[in-house]
Amino acid sequence: MIVAMQETASEEQIQVVMEHLMNMGFSVHRTTGERQSILAAVGARSDFDTRNLEVLSGVEHVHRISAPYKLSGKAFRPEGTIVQFANGVKVGGEEVIVMAGPCSVESREQLFTVAELVAKAGARALRGGAFKPRSSPYSFQGLGIEALKLLREAGDKFNLLVISEVMEISQIPQMLPYIDIFQVGARNMQNFNLLRELGKVKKPALLKRGIAATIEELLLSAEYIMSGGNYDVILCERGIRTFETYTRNTLDICAIPVIHKLSHLPMASDPSHGTGLRDKVAPMARASIAAGADVLLIEVHHDPDKALSDGAQSLYPQQFHELMDTLRMIAPAVGRKLA
Ligand code: PEP
Ligand code: MN
Repeated sequence: MIVAMQETASEEQIQVVMEHLMNMGFSVHRTTGERQSILAAVGARSDFDTRNLEVLSGVEHVHRISAPYKLSGKAFRPEGTIVQFANGVKVGGEEVIVMAGPCSVESREQLFTVAELVAKAGARALRGGAFKPRSSPYSFQGLGIEALKLLREAGDKFNLLVISEVMEISQIPQMLPYIDIFQVGARNMQNFNLLRELGKVKKPALLKRGIAATIEELLLSAEYIMSGGNYDVILCERGIRTFETYTRNTLDICAIPVIHKLSHLPMASDPSHGTGLRDKVAPMARASIAAGADVLLIEVHHDPDKALSDGAQSLYPQQFHELMDTLRMIAPAVGRKLA
């Protein structure tokens, strides 16, 4: 950490800051320039709040050099993480994996129809909400355990992995027998108790970025899961809330290369929630692959106009087929291939 003192800082103020740093366990190297003093604090500690120094008298600026996250940071595994599944699917390698399905599991007929069509088009995982985090308590809340059973059955029938959202700790044991990937929704990215519990399970988690979360906060949330011993974490950009109103959210595609530089964890993109409008999903899916996404999470429905949730952003079957054909051409252009 670097602490730049103000030009007007007194020797006494500088000494107070140096003592503060030493009490925190840092060794301090002082450089006194013509105009100001610079204090370089060196040490392994990462759990400090730079504001505690910023508020001290005579301090001009504090700059953190090492990242506050360790396990999710690139240095922990510079070669990158590959999340492997029993059926041979690998996330984070050369292949790009498409996870697709309805926003919510609505019925057996709906799920099996969509599962068959996404499998035929080349998806490797079936998505579908069983527990739905809806903005209104009066909206469809999901079929719960019944949906999980349907997801497993459809997944097995069409050789698809199953991903579904976990909203609270008590759902973890209920979900474990039925799902392959725990999805942590945007609204739960900072549900730290839930993240800690997911650190104890032996199944991968796909962690979505919160609607107003910074990339650093996303990586710190991944750190919660990893520090419990579960290193199989996939990060997901799903759009953040900005001042723009033409789209439901703003898909921060730039987060993909930024995170690939900062972290070894595989990166997913969800252009469905990232845009909220089905005609914007394909362009953003294509752009996500070009930007380096390892996974695409896409909502598809056989009859989106009648969907119980997120119909407007769900692709029609034909649109999904066409998108997959295009992605098969784009992936090789950026050194990848579609699984
Ligand atoms: C979903 O995947 O249907 C969902 C609710 O996602 P998010 O948490 O990104 O809103
Ligand atoms: Mn949805």
